[in-house]
Amino acid sequence: MTGARQPLGIGDVRRHHLSVVLGELVDRGPRSRAALAQRTGLTKATVSALVADLLDRGLVEELATPPAGRVGRPAIDVAASAGHVAGLGLAVDVDHVAAGVVDLTGRVRVLHRRPSDNRAARLGTVLDRLRRVAARALGDAEAEGMACVGGALSLPGLVDPAGTLLVAPNLGWTAIAGDDLVARLGLPAGIAVTLDNEANLAARAELRFGAGRDLSSFVHVSAGVGIGAGVVLDGRLVRGAHGFAGELGHVVVDRTGRPCACGSRGCLETIAGSAADASSDAVAAALAAALRSVVQIIDPQAILLGGSLAGRGDDFAAAVGDRLQGAALSARWPCDVRPARLGPDAALIGAASVALDAVVADPTLVPRRSPADRTA
Ligand SMILES: [Zn+2]
Repeated sequence: MTGARQPLGIGDVRRHHLSVVLGELVDRGPRSRAALAQRTGLTKATVSALVADLLDRGLVEELATPPAGRVGRPAIDVAASAGHVAGLGLAVDVDHVAAGVVDLTGRVRVLHRRPSDNRAARLGTVLDRLRRVAARALGDAEAEGMACVGGALSLPGLVDPAGTLLVAPNLGWTAIAGDDLVARLGLPAGIAVTLDNEANLAARAELRFGAGRDLSSFVHVSAGVGIGAGVVLDGRLVRGAHGFAGELGHVVVDRTGRPCACGSRGCLETIAGSAADASSDAVAAALAAALRSVVQIIDPQAILLGGSLAGRGDDFAAAVGDRLQGAALSARWPCDVRPARLGPDAALIGAASVALDAVVADPTLVPRRSPADRTA
């Protein structure tokens, strides 16, 4: 929205400060109130009041034993709390459904994955499978005293900005409204779930909790049967005008190659997708060919190889990097190619972090707890 904006009220300023302090702890780990004051430019008194508020909401906790090796009087460190608030990540892929619960530190606390051939199944059958794993994950989280505040459903397809799945070629799904789909999962009231593309969510997870943490601009390549990419520029996920940015798997690398599910021929995923069964050399060459233009256009600091590509290790990443550098105009400013860190559950972690990001942006979304709850 543009136009005249309301001046910020006291509540807005406080909410913003709460967000700054919580974000600092989530992104950079435990630290003392004094160190928080130094990092944020807020006074120590303000930081103490903000930390007290976040403690009341169960979003941070005090660490009993400060890390060793510090000189001087030990200060009690404050950390993002792993104990109470969590995000729910749901995923449907070609060969499995999964539900996971992730805490504010990025740890996967609960994970239920069910292998299933979703290409051969009806939509209702797949959603039934997902509903069951989601119910089990939420039950386990509740037993551990954690409350899911929301989440997302990861899908291997194009999701528009309104949250409608337009097409998932490898599942054979088209035009499904997000609200209708989520309503069929029977989640408890209060757990809002949106749809997003698998590659976007995986990139989001690496940005928040993984190999992209110290990067501001990178491309995360997410490979399974299909290949997608999440593009992060200046710390933000790039979605493009219609939400399709990063469809790297359908960049044509061999015009005379095999037919692809998208209707084209010789797309990257027909060579480098996990079903293609190509040699490691052929996969590296195809990836470099597809990535070369991407690097020239957006100048990322790094390419992160995720999904099944992460398992190929550092040598494979270096081989892609060598081929990429060969012909690039930007050879003087090499783009680092490395494996992603979060493994096959990156999209699920990203899906859960949609809710966690919302809490970091506005910690007052989580209500203050009564004194009786705080001792729990
Ligand atoms: Zn294609």
